Amino acid sequence: MKISILCVGDELLRGSTTNTNLAKIGQLLGAAALFPVMEMSVKDAGESIIDGLGVLLPRSDVVISTGGLGPTSDDVTKTVVAGYFGLKLEKNAKVADRIKSFWSARRLGKMPSSVLNQALVPQGAQILENRTGTAPGLVVKNVKSGKTVIMLPGPPHEMTPMFEEFVVPYLKLVSRDRLYTEVIYVSGIPESCVEEKAAPLVSSGSGLSIAYCASPESIKVFLSGRKAGAVAEKMREIKKTLGENLLLPGAKSIAEDIYLLLKKRKYKLALAESCTGGMIAAAVTEIPGSSEVFSGSAVVYSNDWKEKVLGVAKTTLEKYGSVSSRCAVEMADNVCVEYGADAGIAVTGIAGPGGGTELKPVGLVFIATRYVGKTVVEQYKFPGTRDMVRRRAVSSALNQLRRQILN
Ligand code: ATP
Ligand code: MG
Repeated sequence: MKISILCVGDELLRGSTTNTNLAKIGQLLGAAALFPVMEMSVKDAGESIIDGLGVLLPRSDVVISTGGLGPTSDDVTKTVVAGYFGLKLEKNAKVADRIKSFWSARRLGKMPSSVLNQALVPQGAQILENRTGTAPGLVVKNVKSGKTVIMLPGPPHEMTPMFEEFVVPYLKLVSRDRLYTEVIYVSGIPESCVEEKAAPLVSSGSGLSIAYCASPESIKVFLSGRKAGAVAEKMREIKKTLGENLLLPGAKSIAEDIYLLLKKRKYKLALAESCTGGMIAAAVTEIPGSSEVFSGSAVVYSNDWKEKVLGVAKTTLEKYGSVSSRCAVEMADNVCVEYGADAGIAVTGIAGPGGGTELKPVGLVFIATRYVGKTVVEQYKFPGTRDMVRRRAVSSALNQLRRQILN
């Protein structure tokens, strides 16, 4: 079954709205072992939507559209789709009642008559209830061509629940050639090394395909095939070869992996951040339940506060400077003592673009990690912009602590 996606909205092309619906739909389809073949973003205008249908429909069995189902005059998706298939729009009494009660429950005053335009649906369309808004989703199947258009509202908080509740089950039911996919998360080695280890295990005639997706948090490895059993068996083999670089089940990032490792041991984590300014703390506190593990973070930017808050020795700062291995070690050691933590990370460096010298260039970062009384310090030199240096410092710091815990 070939599925494609048609995103409707001027704002998507202008870049004032990021097309998160496309990413969400891709993720939800992928999780259901379904993969779209193509995507197109078009303007709100009728002729643009017709152009989109003209490209996508001949190449797909199902086109999923998002956007342009609302009550305003620029919302024309269903009118255009109905016209494309030669269907009339008719009022659906049940949808009209729902819209009226949704409106009155929110105490919005008198309802403009345009709102009820959303109760007009193409003849014979299946209606997908909108539990978080007013415009229903619509499924139109063209009898002659056998092609289906599924229209969904644009606002992500309306589109996503509707997709999960109605569209995924619908597509699973009508698709015959599903792909099964398993995903694992890996960290601590570059994507190319992951491929070097995993790819030789997946031979070309096996009917299995492997794909990788790297982010600062982790590398995702996808394995897909038509037989669930074959996918599971091969994934077990891949996991074995990745060894320690494989994150724990349930962890999608290095921070989550560290959280699980420390939680199991009933250990506490403390952080001392200079150039990352709390970014590691943000990554840790993003995890629900992180309070079980995380004591806190000291964001100590100036030398003064490194000394006052963390007790870094004045002589260290004078002799070696704040961007030094000595300072990083003192930050890590002292924050663990101060916060009563068993594990700690300290980061100090020059994120740039200014402030670099020949001896201490932009991108120079010292990371100290402490784990049950032992401190390790490493010197890094990260390339790239300020943002990239800081993000690389975060993932390297977490990786360094993870390695230390595992060893
Ligand atoms: P409404 O009833 O709000 O008008 P609609 O179905 O007509 O909904 P649009 O008018 O196209 O949808 O978009 C409404 C809002 O939803 C947009 O302002 C935008 O912020 C958001 N939106 C639309 N499409 C997308 C998308 N592809 N990704 C992320 N957000 C989107
Ligand atoms: Mg709209």
